[in-house]
Amino acid sequence: MGRKYCISVDLEGVACVAGTYGQGLAEGTRNFTFAINQGTREANAAAKALFDSGAEEVVIWDCHGTGINLDYSAFDSRCKFIIGAGSRLRFPSIDESYDGVLFIGYHAYDTPKATLAHVYSSSTFVSHKINGKEIGELQLDAAIAGKRGVKTLFVSSDDICVAQAKESFPWIRTVETKKALAWNNCISKHPDAVCEEIYDEVTKLVVEQDKMQAYTIEMPFELTVSYKRIEYAQGCNLHNPDNTPFEVVDAYTRRGILNDPEDYFRF
Ligand SMILES: [Zn+2]
Repeated sequence: MGRKYCISVDLEGVACVAGTYGQGLAEGTRNFTFAINQGTREANAAAKALFDSGAEEVVIWDCHGTGINLDYSAFDSRCKFIIGAGSRLRFPSIDESYDGVLFIGYHAYDTPKATLAHVYSSSTFVSHKINGKEIGELQLDAAIAGKRGVKTLFVSSDDICVAQAKESFPWIRTVETKKALAWNNCISKHPDAVCEEIYDEVTKLVVEQDKMQAYTIEMPFELTVSYKRIEYAQGCNLHNPDNTPFEVVDAYTRRGILNDPEDYFRF
């Protein structure tokens, strides 16, 4: 049987995307249409490299916002797509049949200058920590795949997200799309050059992937969530395995134990 891959595509980390000051990368903002097209091109470069290296199946997960972003007809016609929202699972349809997952366009967790850094919602959260260590949606999504034995193979994003990815997944191949200068500011490579680099690096990783690993989080684990507003913290509906609510650490912060990274998305 040939290999089966998932390419998970967010939009903030792609080339020449910095969002709009004060508005992030909301639909309708100046940089959004470009981000959709470049996310499509970068993911398609990865998909082509996988097919050219013998992949049997490549599934694209359109995971930004409500999950309807990319230009699906512009992809290699062998691709399949996970689109839309409303599944009760954070990473819909991921299972043991996949050989690996590649992350395109993801972004860093919050740092003083990473481009469009956030975790799930820049208006809701300050940080998420697992056993005291800050993590981002890249690590959580990789852990959900890793729980099923699916390897994390590749990350492309700004220099800071790539550094965070290499710390979490030291075995992976990466492409730096841009260097972060501020939340809405970056110095980017040319969009075409990034697509070429992604094609080349993904071709290399296929040869190395037997040595690569699934990323896992030791379970159960302590989760600390810091919110941007007191009322969001008050609305926190997370519960410990014994069904008691998470502890109130301070006005903005809640802490407790989860059995599984997917439990974070089930409430
Ligand atoms: Zn996004």
